[in-house]
Amino acid sequence: MDKRADRIYLCLAHMSDTGAEQKYVQEAFDTNWVVPLGPNVNGFEKDLEDFVGQSKRVVALSSGTAAVHLGLLACGVGPGDEVLVQSFTFCASSHPITYLGATPVFIDSEKDTWNMDPELLEEAIKDRIAKTGKKPKAIVPVALYGMPYKIDRIMEIANRYEIPVVEDAAEGFGSKFNGQVIGTFGNYGVLSFNGNKIITTSGGGALITADDESWREIMMYATQYRESYPYYQHEKIGFNYRMSNICAGIGRGQMTVVEDHIAHHKKVQKLYEELLSDVKGITVHSQPATGEYDSNYWLCTITLDPDMKVKGQENAYRQVVTGAVGGAAGVIHAAKSTHTDCEPNANVEAMRMGLDALNIEGRPLWKPMHKQPVYKDAPAYVNGVSEALFKVGMCLPAGPYVKEEEVRYICEAIKSLIEE
Ligand SMILES: *Cc1c(COP(=O)(O)O)cnc(C)c1O
Repeated sequence: MDKRADRIYLCLAHMSDTGAEQKYVQEAFDTNWVVPLGPNVNGFEKDLEDFVGQSKRVVALSSGTAAVHLGLLACGVGPGDEVLVQSFTFCASSHPITYLGATPVFIDSEKDTWNMDPELLEEAIKDRIAKTGKKPKAIVPVALYGMPYKIDRIMEIANRYEIPVVEDAAEGFGSKFNGQVIGTFGNYGVLSFNGNKIITTSGGGALITADDESWREIMMYATQYRESYPYYQHEKIGFNYRMSNICAGIGRGQMTVVEDHIAHHKKVQKLYEELLSDVKGITVHSQPATGEYDSNYWLCTITLDPDMKVKGQENAYRQVVTGAVGGAAGVIHAAKSTHTDCEPNANVEAMRMGLDALNIEGRPLWKPMHKQPVYKDAPAYVNGVSEALFKVGMCLPAGPYVKEEEVRYICEAIKSLIEE
């Protein structure tokens, strides 16, 4: 196959065709609201509240990571506590637990949604109570690649043990379970507007809160916990986490196209399902067909049969990698070795390299947190599902800017890389 001229990236920000984002940003300049509060921040929060429904209140923040941090803080997580968190995720779900001096307890996934396994969750709750004499302080399920978690079962367990839930819906903005937007079931819901998510504010996030009281508390924490005096008076330690009025302007513009974006993600997923359905050795991951699930399909994910041979497989992992996945600007480490004790199979790495050579960005799935060196001492309740998926899975480009003919090109590329 011929290499195409333009690279197809995994997921990129996509502005509206109407220039709505620039209009709101210009307004911020024109009215001199170039600060981390203002009309765009209020307007964006109102848009988000209307979008998620359920009479929720929303606080716009500087990142999704900040939203996880404040959600956990508001659940009372502190030094010496434990938090039950999905292992199969990006590090932003679990790192804030450590910011609070608490310990993450990792819960493996079930096979249907790839998200937190409710059975393991309950087993872990019982075992942590038996081992530590204390209940875990919070539960963090994650909507991986947009897929809703089994929120009915998770909430039933959480309610029975009276443990608050912080939903990490960073990748699942607009995904629904039984018609209800995820992030609105638990005590708090996390959204992210990083450049690669369903909508973007360049960088940013939000926390969905259940009522005025928790909304006010989150607002206090997000703005250095300043009491109402003519001078600075602090009764608690707060953070500088409020969203900038400039970023919120981008967000307001993006909210005019959010439904289009989600519809496009779903269309791309459908096309992948169709075009890859008869390719032996490749399985497209789809939501359970039981009717409750309505994923935004933030990214398309596939798994590769371990027996399938991919061209160039014998050369996989020959070279030490010098950059970080996602093009992280701050990476100055070269990898210490070509291998780690838990990595995608050689055929998956060969597929990634083969697609890369054809100017297509594919990526491994999230490496489970319980397999990350930094969390080697954290308790984990595992069934092998996320580790097995990490070895066979990969993400394919999706999003508003991936055109139908590009999906076709990607699928042809995949087929061309499979050894007959
Ligand atoms: C993106 C993401 C977040 C939040 O990340 P930020 O980049 O800080 O906005 C949290 N959890 C998951 C699973 C994510 O993918």
